[in-house]
Amino acid sequence: MWQAEVRVDLDAIRHNVAVLGAGTGAEVMAVVKGDGYGHGAVPAALAALDGGATWLGVCTLDEALQLREAGITVPVLSWLLAPGLPLQRAIAADVDLSASTTELLDEIVRATAEAGRAARVHLKIDTGLARGGASAEDWPALCVAAAKAAATGDIELVGVWSHFVYADVPDHPTIDRQLAAFRAALTVAENHEINPRVRHIANSAATLTRPDAHFDLVRPGIAVYGLSPVAGRADNFGLRRAMTVRARVLHAKRVAAGQGVSYGHTYTTSGATTLALVPLGYADGVPRAASNLAPVRLAGANRAIAGRVCMDQFVIDCGDDPVAAGDVAVLFGNGDDGAPTADDWAEAVGTINYEIVTRMGSARVPRVYD
Ligand code: PLP
Repeated sequence: MWQAEVRVDLDAIRHNVAVLGAGTGAEVMAVVKGDGYGHGAVPAALAALDGGATWLGVCTLDEALQLREAGITVPVLSWLLAPGLPLQRAIAADVDLSASTTELLDEIVRATAEAGRAARVHLKIDTGLARGGASAEDWPALCVAAAKAAATGDIELVGVWSHFVYADVPDHPTIDRQLAAFRAALTVAENHEINPRVRHIANSAATLTRPDAHFDLVRPGIAVYGLSPVAGRADNFGLRRAMTVRARVLHAKRVAAGQGVSYGHTYTTSGATTLALVPLGYADGVPRAASNLAPVRLAGANRAIAGRVCMDQFVIDCGDDPVAAGDVAVLFGNGDDGAPTADDWAEAVGTINYEIVTRMGSARVPRVYD
């Protein structure tokens, strides 16, 4: 008997990766950072590889090493590297590293001596997002340093890459500007004898809506998990949502009209009603901002959370509907059965579907894989 669980449909992940790869002519790097957007990095990665992905993408070194420790041997790119990390461990584990600065490139070169092998490097150009990546001004110097390190055999130049600002708005003018900047950076790289095996810039939205951004490799994250990167897509691009969060009602009781509910009494019953207690809270990833807003399916209807979400629990007002301890409340799921989706939650809470699924789960809520 379970109390609360995060169910992950691995077949949906396999299906979604197949959808993402279909017709792109590019390899697929499934992004499994953030513990596979809350779905579990290793199971999500294995399902994505089954679905046709040939690369995996993560932020941190530890995320990359976790995949290697699980026995995954496909290329893994790690792209958020602080100065002073034990890069020799990554190089020894054959993890691809992103470099945006000559300083990091120097660190990578120094680490190759200890690792005893060449490092696989992807050079990152900032085409407008203004996060990581070399500026257009610094790019030629990075290319010169990288070409030199490649010539001495310290590094293998595997990729050149960038990231979009606004791919979720398919016709946004920044996309064309970023593609032009990316092509210009590739030309500069070529002029320095850098001909990477993979050029990549497309996240989920660009993979699904911008064939001109596919290049050699696409790098989808959110769509791997079946969530649309573009708001308001009724067809969901044919993707299947992989995560369902549900819990059993712990206690159901009748209360009178005018009863304040949960901390601060921010909700008051309008008539005599049944309140159902659900054992999930913000310690488990349920946003406190969902208080009085997010829908939950229980006893055949979608009902808003009544009052504040607490650390471990929240309440649903069920009116006169028959609800009993043990009944299953679905917070969100694949949308096939009338239950809310992570998109519904994102809209209710005023965030994006990425945040809803990525934060979900805790040591006390098991992830169960179908
Ligand atoms: N590439 C990089 C560098 C990212 O940071 C992310 C996620 O934020 C992705 C790809 C995947 O993006 P999305 O989940 O929108 O497909």
